[in-house]
Amino acid sequence: MLGIETSCDETAAAIVVRDAQGAGRIVSNVVRSQLDEHAAFGGVVPELAARAHVAWLDHIIAQAVSEAGIELRDVDAIAATAGPGLIGGVLVGLTTAKALAAALGKPLVAVNHLEGHALTARLTNAVPFPYLMLLVSGGHSQFVLVRGVGQYERWGTTIDDALGEAFDKVAKLLDLGHPGGPQVEIAARSGDPSRFKFPRPLLREERLDFSFSGLKTAVRLAAESIAPLTDQDVYDIAAGFQLAVTDIVATRTRQALVRFKAEFAGEPIRMVVAGGVAANRAIGAALRAVTEEAGAELVIPPPALCTDNGAMVAWAGAERLALGDTDRLDFVARPRWPLDSEDMGLHHGA
Ligand code: ATP
Ligand code: MG
Ligand code: FE
Repeated sequence: MLGIETSCDETAAAIVVRDAQGAGRIVSNVVRSQLDEHAAFGGVVPELAARAHVAWLDHIIAQAVSEAGIELRDVDAIAATAGPGLIGGVLVGLTTAKALAAALGKPLVAVNHLEGHALTARLTNAVPFPYLMLLVSGGHSQFVLVRGVGQYERWGTTIDDALGEAFDKVAKLLDLGHPGGPQVEIAARSGDPSRFKFPRPLLREERLDFSFSGLKTAVRLAAESIAPLTDQDVYDIAAGFQLAVTDIVATRTRQALVRFKAEFAGEPIRMVVAGGVAANRAIGAALRAVTEEAGAELVIPPPALCTDNGAMVAWAGAERLALGDTDRLDFVARPRWPLDSEDMGLHHGA
């Protein structure tokens, strides 16, 4: 399967194999990040992103195919992210995939980007269904029950900012650069997490939802109250923020595992973390402790497969193709496409 990813600021293509037993193997995985294009703007500029995808996608696909040691005509099918994401970029990838599918006479699989994140743990660790997924990325913070390919139930979501977005905004106000998640994590290592006491919004409520916007405001107020910031101030604020979000994620996960246990009594408890924030080691360590305490198995794919990449799209496409599910060439790209929408079910080319 050739997989194409262009929904945000990564131009990516990969070749992935899914064998008859359902085991996955990444044959090539090429990612070109557009950090340089957007650096001066402190965030992703949609129009610039779309133009860079146009400029680079052909080369990235050619590289993925050549690194795999195959010819384009050797692929069984072509998968591309068809949403959700920045619509200009999604159109570039999906249109390219449609053109290749038409020219090669191969099936197209229009992949939901979030399904790519959701199924990655099956590529890396062959995790069986069902499992609880925590998706924490630049645009999403959700608990999703994954029952099968195309079968998703959302148990909780953010009512304001996504967790990755909160990391990015905190990095921006601490002048740590973009994307901020990795920078905040590095800064936090040299900080004292107890110096600033930041709030844990929503945590007293039972629901499995997140809220990070009040926390972000508290961080901003703390930073403003002691400006100009020394390096140590920046480290301490970053450490305080990271501790707060780690607490929030750990507490919510504990509750989500209780619900999973109740719904699947007697079954193994499995949890998967997906999205760029899964690369954060402090959050990862907290999740290890929480899952261990609950007797659950935890899978966190390697960082390069947690952030956006072509392999996750190829894999989701391969899982769908294996179930006979392909899409028509007039499939319309979608800026919004929740995982639990009705049309995520298998539709077999209809
Ligand atoms: P979505 O998948 O929701 O459309 P996205 O594709 O932009 O969003 P990803 O590429 O999955 O998101 O993840 C990027 C996000 O992950 C950014 O917000 C980034 O700051 C965050 N991130 C990456 N590494 C880390 C880290 N080590 N600690 C915290 N956050 C991180
Ligand atoms: Mg990205
Ligand atoms: Fe993503």
